[in-house]
Amino acid sequence: MNSMLVQENIPLAPLTTFDIGGPARYFVEAKSIGHVQEAVAFARSRDLPLFVLGGGSNLLVSDEGWPGLVLKIAIQGIDQRAGLDESGRVLFHVGAGECWDKFVSRAVASRYAGVECLSGIPGSVGGTPVQNVGAYGQEVSETISSVQVIDLKDNQVRELCAEVCGFGYRCSIFNTSERGRFIVLRVTYALTPDGAPRVTYTDLKRHFEGREPPNLAETREAVRHIRALKGMLIVPGDPDSKSAGSFFKNPVLSEEQHEDLKCRAAARGLTLPSYPALETRKKVSAAWLVERSGFARGFGFGRVGISSKHALAIVNRGGATAADVFALKDQIQHRVEEIWGVRLEPEAVLVGTQTAPDGFAKTT
Ligand SMILES: Cc1cc2nc3c(=O)[nH]c(=O)nc-3n(C[C@H](O)[C@H](O)[C@H](O)COP(=O)(O)OP(=O)(O)OC[C@H]3O[C@@H](n4cnc5c(N)ncnc54)[C@H](O)[C@@H]3O)c2cc1C
Repeated sequence: MNSMLVQENIPLAPLTTFDIGGPARYFVEAKSIGHVQEAVAFARSRDLPLFVLGGGSNLLVSDEGWPGLVLKIAIQGIDQRAGLDESGRVLFHVGAGECWDKFVSRAVASRYAGVECLSGIPGSVGGTPVQNVGAYGQEVSETISSVQVIDLKDNQVRELCAEVCGFGYRCSIFNTSERGRFIVLRVTYALTPDGAPRVTYTDLKRHFEGREPPNLAETREAVRHIRALKGMLIVPGDPDSKSAGSFFKNPVLSEEQHEDLKCRAAARGLTLPSYPALETRKKVSAAWLVERSGFARGFGFGRVGISSKHALAIVNRGGATAADVFALKDQIQHRVEEIWGVRLEPEAVLVGTQTAPDGFAKTT
């Protein structure tokens, strides 16, 4: 394998689904573990902050860009392992740089169940364990068997079993307690041969009402169809898909906060919607809160706005800056907190050092 190529001043906006952000001072695309190790050594030798880039679908990059090294993980390969695990599932060892939806489409076409509801989520395989991607009643934590990483503490390649990854709602050790410590190289998924699709989510059940139980391929198509209606499928030419997906997480509340929210809703003659999937952990719909705080779908000021199909997606309507997005994000957070007493937390990762009203997280 050739040695890695270090590029300078590479625009990051085109590498993100938001199409926003300044340049990377240094940029490396790593196609092998060797490249990753070389790039890490390069960053260390120059004391550069390191940012690991996947498919750029969950990012808001600052207008100033990234002052150090952006390392794009481009390790390829979908390898099916021989034999079955103890639950009768087949293991797939997948390069972190593979397109997630390509893997899903292959799995479904070969009748392996476990990821069909996660069809149409943009980004790379390596990005999936980071926030434990989930949709339509499935999360990758249910199928991830292990994650191969480079541990930046000692530069060793390790295989982390799912149990140590600390998966929870949109979180793992990779974006919480051990943020910045691991670079994901490959992910091993355990899928069920000839398994039944998961049709538990309300929208999906409604889609198939009165029809024969769907197979995996039909479920995948239905998920993609529903996602497209919500602007959550990247469709070239659809202005609502120039986003980072859901900008905010659904807040998880304490019993007390949940009661308070119910009272606030009742005072306005509203009933807090209850979703079976959200109810267990007192998780409430961030979209509901946003829409009932004066930010209807389609709301906006010029270059930045809210998707006309989904209240949780902030969209770049053309030429938006990170500062524009920040201004809208702040306005939404402020109004929701004022009216509902709940602070919405961004799901998108804020990358860079730009000074904005409440600052960019500096991800190193
Ligand atoms: C239209 C749209 C719809 C979406 N729908 C969903 C959805 O339904 N459910 C959902 O959960 N998410 C959704 N997302 C968010 C996003 O697609 C996922 O979070 C995705 O997994 C991000 O992967 P990525 O490769 O693009 O990561 P990036 O955006 O490049 O990076 C995200 C974070 O992961 C880290 N990272 C990426 N790759 C690696 C690696 N190899 N090693 C270590 N760290 C890494 C980055 O440093 C960063 O902190 C959506 C986004 C869009 C634009």
